[in-house]
Amino acid sequence: MITFGPVPSRRLGKSLGINNIVSPKTCSYACIYCQVGETLIQTTGRKSFYEPELIYKKVGQHLEKLNAENFPDYLTFVSNGEPTLDINLGKSIKLLKKFDLPVAVIINSSLLWDDSVYNDMLSADWVSVKMDAGNEYLWKEVNRPSPLLDYEKIINGILYFTSRFQGKLCTETMLIEGVNDNDENFISLAELIKEINPSTAYLAIPIRPPSSKEVKPASLDTLNRAWQIFNDKKIKAEFLTGFEGTRTGYTGNIYEDILNITAVHPMREDMLNELLEKDNAAYEVVESLIRQKLIRVSVYNGKKFFLRNYHLKM
Ligand code: SF4
Repeated sequence: MITFGPVPSRRLGKSLGINNIVSPKTCSYACIYCQVGETLIQTTGRKSFYEPELIYKKVGQHLEKLNAENFPDYLTFVSNGEPTLDINLGKSIKLLKKFDLPVAVIINSSLLWDDSVYNDMLSADWVSVKMDAGNEYLWKEVNRPSPLLDYEKIINGILYFTSRFQGKLCTETMLIEGVNDNDENFISLAELIKEINPSTAYLAIPIRPPSSKEVKPASLDTLNRAWQIFNDKKIKAEFLTGFEGTRTGYTGNIYEDILNITAVHPMREDMLNELLEKDNAAYEVVESLIRQKLIRVSVYNGKKFFLRNYHLKM
């Protein structure tokens, strides 16, 4: 199946998924947390999968079946592997633009140093680049790259692309307990991500069974620490922990407000108190959310922060 959805996405609204990689899963990485499955073909060589005209036709047929309410905000390449391995990606993106919908691509960024990938990606409207590791050692641990790839070359490729890309850019960092969830990595990543200058740097945890059974998501305390380190560097960071909190402002519904805000980023105690005051609500609301295990307290630099709790569907 080439198209699926639309699926709701906090990053993209309603997103019509496009899988441009034919089975079996083909990727330049074999990330320990991959939720697509084991990498069956690991390669760095681009090749043709589906013809762009076929992708265009399938997307057109899918769009025709959708009513106005379900019409997508984005057409998103999210593949059975790495979408940039498709040598026709640029041509497909250009064809899809005829639908007058922005095109998003979620990439592992390992091939951006390649001129043809670089040029293809320039035609996208929204790109998410993977940034899990701030050093080569961790990159090998987490992303288990093809031996043909070179860490420095990849970082330079990402920096070169992101300094020229005119569309909307995000980064995504998956945090795995005991592997890349240490402050040293957060600091190096924050330095790199600062240079990339994304509109949002997403901090994610695996929310579906990962490819390696030993993989555990980073804890809430760790997510809080990572967010604080990014925030200190003036990077706009948000969580992707499985909750699609949409509104981050004051809606008048105190329960919804707290859950939506804490799903996206930690909330400092004084901010929370301010919100309670605006809503004429008592602190018991917070206690009740904690009792229901919907939010949790995490302390950072002596200050209390509240975060949305998560339960994994493992
Ligand atoms: S880059 Fe994406 S598809 Fe490839 S192994 Fe990593 S998580 Fe899976």
